[in-house]
Amino acid sequence: ETALVEAPPKPILQLVGVRKTFGGFTAVEGIDLDVRAGEFLTIVGPSGSGKTTLLRMLAGMDTPSEGNITLHGELINDVPPNRRPTCLVFQSLALFPHKSVGENIAFPLKVKGVDAAARKARALELMRVVRLPESYFDKNVMKCSGGERQRVALARAFAYDPEVLFFDEPLSALDYKLKKALEKELKDLHRETGKTFIYITHSLEEAMVMSDRIGVMRAGRLVQVGTPEEIYGAPVDRFVCEFVGEVNTIKVGRGTDGVWSGRDVPGTFQVAPPRNGVATDEAFIVVRPEFMRFLGPGDTADNRLEGTVYNEYSLGSRIQYQVRVETKGAGEKVMLVELSRARALAPSADPHVTLGWDAADAFTLEG
Ligand code: ATP
Repeated sequence: ETALVEAPPKPILQLVGVRKTFGGFTAVEGIDLDVRAGEFLTIVGPSGSGKTTLLRMLAGMDTPSEGNITLHGELINDVPPNRRPTCLVFQSLALFPHKSVGENIAFPLKVKGVDAAARKARALELMRVVRLPESYFDKNVMKCSGGERQRVALARAFAYDPEVLFFDEPLSALDYKLKKALEKELKDLHRETGKTFIYITHSLEEAMVMSDRIGVMRAGRLVQVGTPEEIYGAPVDRFVCEFVGEVNTIKVGRGTDGVWSGRDVPGTFQVAPPRNGVATDEAFIVVRPEFMRFLGPGDTADNRLEGTVYNEYSLGSRIQYQVRVETKGAGEKVMLVELSRARALAPSADPHVTLGWDAADAFTLEG
């Protein structure tokens, strides 16, 4: 009997040692990345980290200075955008302002020589996919709202029937509520169409909501690629850790007895086994604010710190507390605690608190 071994999914796009320089300046370097067919991959990173440069090479608008980009195993470094089975959707959309919604969406089909009746049928179908009312077919695209135009651009991108869709911050100009709604729709669309989506943004929140995997860029390099859970729960370094959300850090050192003591705060701490292989005797314990809690009499936790609440902020459904904790030196140290509104401290509560967290809810980075 032969065992059926499932082959790992083949990458649709593969980057090996990709580098891009402008004159003497290196914008992107050392990029090795396998993009899986059908995945939603988001590249995030601060301004200037090289996201757009990377995307331009993927879309064929730029050629790598070094390294290879392959699509289905074929080298495409120098293949121009219009000869790749890919399509780019970006913030400024590039819709035809004097044409209707329907004409904009049907444009790629017209170029392909599809007849008028079939074009209209397909455009209407795509309008349903992106949730544009049928009555918009003849509406001038400039009379549509920002969010509606975004949907038109998306429907037009689908009309090309590309294998890979690239998105360059397509939602950044929209208001918060619409952005949130479109994030969820894009994720649904991705699932429904089964296409490969590669999305760039500097908004980690956007990335977290939509992506199967996230790649974090810093100064031209891809420093971590992983699921949202991996990026959030096991960041490879302090840059990723702090880029993806608020954190509490405590500097600790390991004595000859194996016990970890605070370097900046008094006390000893239980440290979770390092997920990223901390080998040194100096480390940082990192605790996300939502994994911190206030301990009442009799409550237990692996670790505790005494402090004083001096500020609280409403985050809507949650409340964030700023707590000053005792330090070893003269300096001040503030820890953040986030609780759901239902578990908020009573307004009359004593500001002197005991913070607690369990070792398994924290992670450790090399110090
Ligand atoms: P943002 O989020 O601000 O769009 P980004 O992460 O997309 O930033 P890039 O636009 O890729 O960053 O730019 C990366 C670096 O390369 C920047 O320092 C930028 O100034 C530089 N750069 C990009 N394009 C060029 C170019 N054509 N000529 C010279 N330098 C460039």
